[in-house]
Amino acid sequence: MTSAEQAMEFKLGFIGLGNMGGPMASNLIKAGHAVTGFDLQAQNLAILTAQGGKKANDVGNVARDADVIILMLPAGEFVRDVLCGKEGVFAVAKPGTLIIDCSTIDVATAREMAREAEKHGFLMLDAPVSGGVMGAQAGSLTFMCGGDQKAFATAKPVLEIMGANIIHAGGPGNGQAAKLCNNMLLAISMIGVSEAFNLADALGLERQKLFDISSTASGQCWSLNTYCPVPGPVPASPANNDYKPGFSVAMMLKDLKLAQEAARKSDANTPLGQHARDLYQAFEELGNSEVDFSGIIKFLRTKK
Ligand code: NAD
Repeated sequence: MTSAEQAMEFKLGFIGLGNMGGPMASNLIKAGHAVTGFDLQAQNLAILTAQGGKKANDVGNVARDADVIILMLPAGEFVRDVLCGKEGVFAVAKPGTLIIDCSTIDVATAREMAREAEKHGFLMLDAPVSGGVMGAQAGSLTFMCGGDQKAFATAKPVLEIMGANIIHAGGPGNGQAAKLCNNMLLAISMIGVSEAFNLADALGLERQKLFDISSTASGQCWSLNTYCPVPGPVPASPANNDYKPGFSVAMMLKDLKLAQEAARKSDANTPLGQHARDLYQAFEELGNSEVDFSGIIKFLRTKK
């Protein structure tokens, strides 16, 4: 039997069926997996059952029977509750169960949960994603995975149903580390590209000209070439749709805060990451939490 065929025998549990977890679970069901899920919101459970999944009444009922348990929760404290609670995963799951945490959480909690999982005889992988709700629906997410080789190899065929790129970033917590480093870099590059367009405007340089030159010269990057923050040069970018997300300011700010917390705890020097966090915080406080993160260009234009 191939590892993909073996994986099809797994009973899957899914905890956290929101904007991301809902479509991810749906892709697992479509691929033929038996999926039992739990969410605090009844409407998310109704969607799961309408698609052929089975609903559970609590975390314990998901965890007792599952071979693989996937979490897609808002933050580290939710993951801790679900795993360490009295009737939580660690208390009731079978030894040898694989736990895959796809939530974006802080590195320290991810590493602590991996140590606890090992003590209890479970396999554990942190596997945060990029690709957003559209990637979750299309099954084209990128998974950045942290954990040992056995956990990664067991998880891979399951993750391949939900994603297009499955990357092993190293030991426990390294998936979260990769996600935070990448998104800090993304925020900084988006601010840099925005400042370049604002300066071009002030100097009378046409936006399209700047794009044509920089997108093929040393200034090229994803924030410019694929996600350009001014309307026109890249027709599919959110700038052409009044900065509707996309990837919201609230999501970016969450990741920038996690990156700064990780930098503080590990004594890493990230002055631009800190400044990016402050700028996105100020932008959000003006009521922009649901705006796409490339909308920061408007804020930078008016800031004195
Ligand atoms: P969401 O708020 O839509 O979904 C989270 C779900 O978890 C909710 O439905 C909530 O009811 C459920 N939940 C909370 N506590 C629970 C518990 N104890 N038991 C069962 N269910 C519980 O959030 P989302 O947008 O789906 O994001 C989930 C994770 O994915 C977050 O960590 C986020 O940072 C990350 N992420 C989101 C995106 C995005 O574009 N939305 C992109 C990349 C990563």
